[in-house]
Amino acid sequence: MKYSAFTLAYEALRGHADWKPAWREPEPKAEYDVVIVGGGGHGLATAYYLAKEHGLSNVAVVEKGWIGSGNAGRNTTIIRSNYLLPANTQFYEWSMKLWEGLERDLNYNVMVSQRGVLNLCHSDAQRDAFARRGNAMRLNGVDAQLLDHSEVRAMLPFLDYDNARFPIRGGLLQRRGGTARHDAVVWGYARAADRRGIDIIQNCEVTGLTIRNGRISGVETARGPIRAGKVGLAVAGNSSRLAAMAGLRLPIESHVIQAFVTEGVKPVVDCVLTFGAGHFYISQSDKGGLVFGGDLDGYNSYAQRGNLPTVEDIVEGGVALWPGLGRLRVLRHWGGIIDMSMDGSPIIDRTPIDGLYLNAGWCYGGFKATPASGWCFAHLIARDEPHPLHAAFRLDRFAAGMVIDEKGQGAQPNLH
Ligand SMILES: Cc1cc2nc3c(=O)[nH]c(=O)nc-3n(C[C@H](O)[C@H](O)[C@H](O)COP(=O)(O)OP(=O)(O)OC[C@H]3O[C@@H](n4cnc5c(N)ncnc54)[C@H](O)[C@@H]3O)c2cc1C
Repeated sequence: MKYSAFTLAYEALRGHADWKPAWREPEPKAEYDVVIVGGGGHGLATAYYLAKEHGLSNVAVVEKGWIGSGNAGRNTTIIRSNYLLPANTQFYEWSMKLWEGLERDLNYNVMVSQRGVLNLCHSDAQRDAFARRGNAMRLNGVDAQLLDHSEVRAMLPFLDYDNARFPIRGGLLQRRGGTARHDAVVWGYARAADRRGIDIIQNCEVTGLTIRNGRISGVETARGPIRAGKVGLAVAGNSSRLAAMAGLRLPIESHVIQAFVTEGVKPVVDCVLTFGAGHFYISQSDKGGLVFGGDLDGYNSYAQRGNLPTVEDIVEGGVALWPGLGRLRVLRHWGGIIDMSMDGSPIIDRTPIDGLYLNAGWCYGGFKATPASGWCFAHLIARDEPHPLHAAFRLDRFAAGMVIDEKGQGAQPNLH
């Protein structure tokens, strides 16, 4: 059933008799051409583009819990393409272009809201770095605007300007950046993939990888073995665990990062805002809650929960920037496991095992990458060769000294 205003009106008149589940719950088949491990945004997007762009629909997405139960359903929904280095700029800008057409493509309202992403600067040196990044973005065809103190003040009058510990000098604004509703993205890709024949298999943990003579031939799961010609890993914070099943050690560490949402208030902040002098960023959800977050908890973990010292650090940053925030109550607070690569940039590549592909290393910022990541990973898996857009995201770049050290963006905690 195609979703539209007409369908909605028609169903309303008929008492909503014909709505079907948005995707099926199939039993796993004995064999698929491709098995994607991980039903987050990246895994589902990969499956969708495998079917749409490459005509491969004998594909399963195998998820240990429910789809979106990982970081896809836990992030703070920011999308942007304000990167400095060419490899990242091109990739994230392609993602932004896919976001801009995603609702029409998926026939699903993923609530893309291009409300702008504003990174604040608090020193002359930081402003110079932002000017450099903004220039690089514009040279690469990405929109960027450097704002001075008074322009920021006109936009966000409620921040602390006059008595501030970290005076606001200006900011770098990407107007086309913004937010998208994270779980709608998961559901939209799931529904669109299902409509193209992809099997989405939930509650099916992958417990082993079947490898013979250096080639993968399937996966072991909690619901029995599944044979596969090719297997793609898109398990974010669990990447090291899955890779270990193939005897691989990845240049990735898993860390916890937390996020928070306050009680709903009237519209107050109409962009995504990042503090440049501490670990804090914030936006407002369509329901009115202020959604905010900050830095990593600072130790390796596979637990989806964080600790109070980090909560204190994040709230301190928030109140230093915006004192009025201290009057709001936090309603919910959670954590997710993120896959930190050593240079802050992702990996989309073949592995040394034939037929086994890796999509990982998304650090704090993989939500915005979801469309391009799926698009590129599907290309790699279908053709067994990288697309130029992600050719630099190689697994061996750390050994080869070809790191993409985007520390001004990718690994910078307060610039999600
Ligand atoms: C608090 C927080 C805030 C964030 N904010 C932002 C932001 O504002 N903007 C941004 O761009 N990014 C943000 N991120 C990062 C972003 O959410 C992730 O980089 C991205 O979601 C990772 O890709 P994914 O969606 O496929 O991962 P996930 O949703 O984590 O998908 C991986 C899936 O693999 C499954 N899995 C794991 N092991 C197995 C197994 N053995 N068998 C089967 N399935 C398995 C998991 O259950 C999970 O569903 C944030 C992350 C967190 C935690």
